[in-house]
Amino acid sequence: MPKLYKITKNLFILTPSSNIYSSANVNFLIDKKITLIDAGTNNDPGPRNIKKILHSLGVSPRIESIIITHSHVDHFTGAKNLKKAFNSQIFAHYLTEKAIKQYSDFRNLGSFEYWEFIEKTFPIVRKTHFIKYLISFIYRRSFGNFEEFQLDRKLKEGDRINLGEFSFEVIFTPGHSPDSICLYEPNKKILFSGDMVPYTPYIHTSISDFRSSIKKLINLDAKLAIRGHGRPQIWQEEKKKYRQFLKDMDIAKRRILKILKLKGPQTAHKMANSVFQRTHLIHKTIYTNLMRVSVFWILKYLEELELEGKIKSQLIKNKLIFSLK
Ligand SMILES: [Zn+2]
Repeated sequence: MPKLYKITKNLFILTPSSNIYSSANVNFLIDKKITLIDAGTNNDPGPRNIKKILHSLGVSPRIESIIITHSHVDHFTGAKNLKKAFNSQIFAHYLTEKAIKQYSDFRNLGSFEYWEFIEKTFPIVRKTHFIKYLISFIYRRSFGNFEEFQLDRKLKEGDRINLGEFSFEVIFTPGHSPDSICLYEPNKKILFSGDMVPYTPYIHTSISDFRSSIKKLINLDAKLAIRGHGRPQIWQEEKKKYRQFLKDMDIAKRRILKILKLKGPQTAHKMANSVFQRTHLIHKTIYTNLMRVSVFWILKYLEELELEGKIKSQLIKNKLIFSLK
């Protein structure tokens, strides 16, 4: 069963009934009007559970608005049915619209955040449509079906959302997904940070996007960070993790330059292990431990170094070789 936690008198967090890494929290803002931040999937929590919770809180079963932090399946696919059940308006970043369209096509894995990683790590998968369909099938079986829906309000950086007791500033924070937003409540000093950290940062965007997203957040005057998964975090502590990410990213870049200087031109594959050996300790969960040594991540750093004009790449005998410029 999903569990409801009271954070303040107007703010409740509903944790998912299944695994907290694969299913997201739904946040309830209870005022004269009721708002949800993130919608979960159709199965978890789904309209029936939400109705029960509103009943237990003694409020009317009407949800004015649902704000989506990003277009990952565990955060947004439940929105359409909730909208139908509670006559709500759906808010999300304008880029979320594209993800909704993509994902409603069964053949498209849309916002499956590991697809690019899988493709780059195991190139054979890209050539085999069957594997893609199979993953899509399993994915939809576990998260429930999905139908396209329209956004009632398309958000962008700097927008304000006034909801009575809560008034949010929209901060566009691409990294974990191209359409990620954070919602900052300056009076209550709460930041709804979606999946910024520590999950899979910059998996769908460049490292520089993720870096500038972090920089938008670290100086905020906040007390609590409400993540998309798990427990709320004390902002002072959470901020340290953001800073650590910035440090890790710089160390990784310096290490790449050092390897190229000492060992000469080489492929991303050859570099991957030594680059991430002692950094990125913050990626603690199993999947990130696997992923941090992957060539997928190092390619992102190489791309940035190349853009900065510090290294160059050349295709030699079908292999992409990187060297100092
Ligand atoms: Zn996510």
